[in-house]
Amino acid sequence: MARTIHNLFCRARVIILVAEVLTGCLLTAGCANGHRQAEVATANQPAGPKAGSRAIQITVLYDNYTLSERCRTGWGFSCIITGTEKCILFDTGANADLLLENMDKLQVRAQDVNLVVISHDHPDHTVGLYSFLGRHSNALVYLPSTASAKLVQGVESRGAKIQMPDNALQICEGVHLTDSTFKGNVEQSLVLDTTEGLVVVTGCAHPGIVEIVKKAKQTLNKDVYLVLGGFHLLGLSDSQIQRIIQQLRDLGVRKVGPSHCTGERPIELFKQEYREDFVPIGVGRIGIPGKLWPATMH
Ligand SMILES: [Zn+2]
Ligand SMILES: [Zn+2]
Repeated sequence: MARTIHNLFCRARVIILVAEVLTGCLLTAGCANGHRQAEVATANQPAGPKAGSRAIQITVLYDNYTLSERCRTGWGFSCIITGTEKCILFDTGANADLLLENMDKLQVRAQDVNLVVISHDHPDHTVGLYSFLGRHSNALVYLPSTASAKLVQGVESRGAKIQMPDNALQICEGVHLTDSTFKGNVEQSLVLDTTEGLVVVTGCAHPGIVEIVKKAKQTLNKDVYLVLGGFHLLGLSDSQIQRIIQQLRDLGVRKVGPSHCTGERPIELFKQEYREDFVPIGVGRIGIPGKLWPATMH
């Protein structure tokens, strides 16, 4: 495992350099202060029961790519979800200084966070957690059930409360964690139950992006509108990647936002296949159309 992570970081240095060169090509949105924001879609609200009224926004704080010239990239992933009943920080990146710097540039306040979700216990998703809790420890932290004693102690020593769920769990109105247990892997993903369909946010997707989408669908028995985050497809052949894209199509995934550890070539193939339904992901704000279904609808 340590060797795998080491290899990932070695590859990451190369990819980050490439990403920084490509950043200019990927710029489709700005960050805070009135800059343009990425819009996933402008689909109409579906007819039906009255849905929740708050606009949902995902702000990526840490990623291998950026949508904003003002923000820096790094190997890892972190985002914050606002407009939900509770403000949720999902993963925390590999470098605490970079996480806090991007939070400040995007005008995200640590004090606003109610819940923290760590997808899995890899340093590119956990290292920023300690510095974040140094700023703000009054949050409930959902760790993966296999979190190391070091990670648990690191969180507890900063005064935050911990939960380590195995099963699918609703963590606030319209927001769920998937069942985290897969063959040989433990990783939890976030699922937003919106009027457009499910929005699934992944960390690295080590159990397989297809398996995670299946779990998300099983959790809520609804179709998937958007999957975003790390898809972990590095090193696969084009035909293997095409098969995965087809499986996601067969599962009814309408839009995709592959980023972080997905890999340059897989991202390119997703872009070719999904076209206008490909959502560029990077550090910056991503608007999610639709609203969360209120709890009374379940
Ligand atoms: Zn990982
Ligand atoms: Zn990762």
